[in-house]
Amino acid sequence: MRVCPFCGLATESPHETQEACIEALQVEISRVREIVARLKEPEEPSGRPALRISGIPPTSGRETDID
Ligand SMILES: [Zn+2]
Repeated sequence: MRVCPFCGLATESPHETQEACIEALQVEISRVREIVARLKEPEEPSGRPALRISGIPPTSGRETDID
């Protein structure tokens, strides 16, 4: 399937005018809204924060041989 280079929507032929893009976007939005409404995914207000390990322990024991 092709993609419109202007709005990025999948389309058979690229929209030739901005209005055509907007129209297609509105159709897409209403379609997505329907899908979202059907899914009704429970959204947790406080999502799990991605734990990031900061502070990598320094490697002890140097391996430098100095004469
Ligand atoms: Zn378009």
